Amino acid sequence: MEKRRIAILGSTGSIGRQALDVIRQHRDLFEVELLTANNSSSLLISQAIEFEANAVVICNESKYREVADALQPHMIKVFAGMKSVCDLVAGGNIDIVLTAMVGFSGLESTIAAVRAGKAIALANKETLVAAGGIVTGLAREHNVPILPVDSEHSAIFQCLQGSYGAKLAKIHLTASGGPFRTWDKAAIARVTPEDALKHPNWNMGRKVTIDSATMMNKGLELIEARWLFDIAPGQIEVVVHPQSVIHSMVEFEDGAVIAQLGHPDMREPIQYALSYPARLSLDNRKLDFAGLGALTFFAPDMEKFPALALAYEAIGRGGNIPCAMNAANEVAVKAFLDGQIGFYDICDIINDTMAGVDFVKDPDLDSIFMTNAEAAAAARESLDKHLR
Ligand code: MG
Repeated sequence: MEKRRIAILGSTGSIGRQALDVIRQHRDLFEVELLTANNSSSLLISQAIEFEANAVVICNESKYREVADALQPHMIKVFAGMKSVCDLVAGGNIDIVLTAMVGFSGLESTIAAVRAGKAIALANKETLVAAGGIVTGLAREHNVPILPVDSEHSAIFQCLQGSYGAKLAKIHLTASGGPFRTWDKAAIARVTPEDALKHPNWNMGRKVTIDSATMMNKGLELIEARWLFDIAPGQIEVVVHPQSVIHSMVEFEDGAVIAQLGHPDMREPIQYALSYPARLSLDNRKLDFAGLGALTFFAPDMEKFPALALAYEAIGRGGNIPCAMNAANEVAVKAFLDGQIGFYDICDIINDTMAGVDFVKDPDLDSIFMTNAEAAAAARESLDKHLR
């Protein structure tokens, strides 16, 4: 494998840190060109020094001085603000852009990278949920590969290697079921952010961990899969698999099912996206089948976890509705984390927002940005009714 020059957008978050751990193990194969962070200035500084980044961007402009002063002796270029991220990802010295920011805010820089012809290692699923048609259309136009980092989508992608373009009959999207899978509805209604942040299997950031607890994460992934693999939502089946050992499966027209398995560790799909089509060694835990004993599967309970039903509804209605759903979810998850609302209020707020938004059948980028802003405002209004 030839040396690859990497940009990590969101390097101080959970995916960004795990990506740097992958790179740490293969310093001869990867070079860190660009690191960006929203707020975590001190971690950004130490990452930039350790990996000898060419440039960094701190999005929060008030922290520019601090970062610039710390990195000046190391000859690392420092920029501030979102606009700088969009400018720098287009740079000629970058081969792969890992999009590891959280939420809709990652859309602009992802599009800038696609337009500049950079390979995308996509961890920011919200960009595909909000603007899947636009982003995948631009990627085709610019002949840019979108390599999935999300473990389920990486699994599907891995299962498709060597399928010689065979038609997919189905995707079996596995879900851990989150920490409340076995709880009853009354108990789930009372959960706190602390309860919800305890994910049984995966080590992830705060937003995705709450999404996992509501199962909205699986809803977002359903929409992500629809765009990444150009498959009808009705051909994507969610199956709860509490061990998170099978990371997803594909089924072909002859009924053959191919699965990808591994001990749950995000570094594996991150590394595969960065090294594809090569496979590299990794110091992760390997599977012990006899130790596992059994793998189990259940149908998802959409009554206990209405977020999944909302996502099927959103992708079924299409147009700008998934964007509105995502915007409302971002507002509601933040309010839940801040202790302002209860667990089921998250889905009530999303439902209210989706019901009220003006439908746009074929949204362009401007109307996606407009929908995001309008839906976030509508969600905040709905939020007021649910405040504790
Ligand atoms: Mg996932």
